[in-house]
Amino acid sequence: MPRLRYLLVYMLLSAILVVGMYFYSLQTGLDRLAQTGRVRIDQSSDRLLGQLSSFKQLPNILARHPIVSQAFDQTTDIETVNGFLANTALLSGAREIFIVDPNGEIIAQSHKDATLGLDVANQPYLRAALNGRLGIFATLDADTGARTIFIARASITKPNILKGIVVVSVDIAALEFEWHVDEEALAFFDINDVAFITNRSNLALRRMSEVDKPLKDDRSYTISQLRPFFGHSEGNQFGHALWRFAVNKELPPEALVKSKFIPRLDMTARVFLPTQAAKTAASLQAALVAAILFALGVVLWALMQRRKNLIEQLAIEEAANTSLEARVEKRTQQLKKAQYQLVQAGKLTALGEMSAGISHELNQPLAAMQNYAENGAKLLDRDRIEEAKENFGLINVQINRATRIISSLRAFARREKETIGPVDLQEVIKDSLNLAQSRIKAASVDVQCRTGMASIMVKGGHVRLQQVIINLLTNALDAVEDGSEKRIFIDLTHDSTTSALTIRDTGQGLEDPARVFDPFYSTKDIGSSKGMGLGLSISYGIVGSFGGEMTCRNHPDGGAEFKVELQMATP
Ligand code: ADP
Repeated sequence: MPRLRYLLVYMLLSAILVVGMYFYSLQTGLDRLAQTGRVRIDQSSDRLLGQLSSFKQLPNILARHPIVSQAFDQTTDIETVNGFLANTALLSGAREIFIVDPNGEIIAQSHKDATLGLDVANQPYLRAALNGRLGIFATLDADTGARTIFIARASITKPNILKGIVVVSVDIAALEFEWHVDEEALAFFDINDVAFITNRSNLALRRMSEVDKPLKDDRSYTISQLRPFFGHSEGNQFGHALWRFAVNKELPPEALVKSKFIPRLDMTARVFLPTQAAKTAASLQAALVAAILFALGVVLWALMQRRKNLIEQLAIEEAANTSLEARVEKRTQQLKKAQYQLVQAGKLTALGEMSAGISHELNQPLAAMQNYAENGAKLLDRDRIEEAKENFGLINVQINRATRIISSLRAFARREKETIGPVDLQEVIKDSLNLAQSRIKAASVDVQCRTGMASIMVKGGHVRLQQVIINLLTNALDAVEDGSEKRIFIDLTHDSTTSALTIRDTGQGLEDPARVFDPFYSTKDIGSSKGMGLGLSISYGIVGSFGGEMTCRNHPDGGAEFKVELQMATP
């Protein structure tokens, strides 16, 4: 759900950015367009004024010309003047040049027609000239209806006597001729909002305000000569006037309109700049931003999707792990239970074996005792007292044997309760040898103790270890007692973690090394006091309880070798 919200927020922000980009770009484009418009207006006004400037000088120059002066004075042939004026018009590019007398009547002119003698006194350009100014006036030619600029200059001699007026008329269409290549439509509007000079011929004489509105000034043209301007609606964007036009060939569907009043022409210049390019550029830039944002959005979305997948995968893996852990835990519990049950079963088996062994071991002395007792009783009945005593003695021997079996079993049972601590193995060996000393001497066995003097501290219990060593020594003595070579070797080595005690004899060796540690395994004479088969199994258990290990083998040089490895006690 939050992803959908992110998407919506992203889309909203993107939309704002795209729209913002569009308007920013459009504003920049329109500002640039307005700047271009200002430049175009300045260029076009300068161009027009430049074109007019040569004509403005012409009346001045002509007024001072002798032929014109004679014409003013009417001292020359008018045909000559007309010819001169026609020549001058041809050379200068003026449409017409004519000379007006102080009464406002044309007295000479460049073109032969019926206007000679015409009274032009009321023409505005003449009124300005009569006031001593340069009369410039754009209007329609009375004869042809062509748009014309009249430039009039009065020739006044001292003391202030008006001799006449020279008028030059210029064809506006001729001026406009080179303007048609201009990119943007431009027109100079006169005081009545009539497009009088323009670079688009179809705009000429179109009136911006209502076409039948009374004319403000005497323009020498009539409303009937005017056409309405193209229908349009006016708007404004970022402070720029934007006009929309109905479909026409001259003006774009939408134009930024820039206007400026040109005092020297007494006209307002208006340029119509198409906004299409600026709008297209703005749309393109907005589209580019939209495309970039879209691509970015797709990448972000893909990343988010990947992250989501990853999270989901992790969650699945975690769930799988949790269930696996739970299964492992359950299995471990089951295994522990099974192990416990096995141990219990093992214990029961051991107990069973042991009971069988014990009953076997105890049965023999008991059977023997029963025998001796019965024999003893019979011998007493027959008064064979000495023999009966002997039997009682034998019963005693069997009792001793049973007692030993039981006491050994008690030791076997006790072993787990032994407390463990650092014990000096040298001391234990020494004590054990002392205890066995009488038997060693009696059997005249050569015991070679090569343990060194330094004390070696191991983990164990003094009495228990002594029991183990005495047991090993006893077995070794048993093994060598009847042999020809009677020797026992005791060696002790150690490293930082372990000590190793070996007791080797020169006896017959082990019959079955794999079984010597089994309880009740014995090769010794059962009836004798020696063979119980518990000594080594008890010793094995004691060493194991100290965290040590007991092994045996037949030595390559003959005889049995027992090795007791114990952990060194940390100081
Ligand atoms: P027991 O000495 O009562 O027989 P042990 O458990 O001490 O019981 O020994 C088990 C058996 O291991 C012995 O009967 C004997 O066969 C064998 N054994 C032990 N020590 C030696 C030895 N040093 N040389 C040969 N056989 C040995």
